[in-house]
Amino acid sequence: MKFCPKCGSILVPQVIEGKRYLVCPSCGYKEEVQGGTGFKVRVKIKHSPREKLVVVNANAVPPTASKVKGTIRCPKCGHDELLAWMQQTRAADEPPTRFYRCTKCGYTWREYA
Ligand SMILES: [Zn+2]
Ligand SMILES: [Zn+2]
Repeated sequence: MKFCPKCGSILVPQVIEGKRYLVCPSCGYKEEVQGGTGFKVRVKIKHSPREKLVVVNANAVPPTASKVKGTIRCPKCGHDELLAWMQQTRAADEPPTRFYRCTKCGYTWREYA
């Protein structure tokens, strides 16, 4: 809410010739509204698709995957060099799942917490 700088009355939002103004009903003072000031602007927030459920594609290694060496071994071939990455598999409020892929045999598995 804004008040008239001249007489102190409450300014009323009005649209004149496509432009938005705050107009004083008492003294006729008016000021152009820049960027929606004085108005309640309803902004529709679009939820990004990342918030929705993500289908796990086990074949896709994201570019954020990092190389892990010497700490974890591939359960299939015993190789100790793998790619590790985090992926949101369920709802956004659940922690992401950690995935591993063996760089030797390509075996991909996920780590269960
Ligand atoms: Zn006024
Ligand atoms: Zn392997």
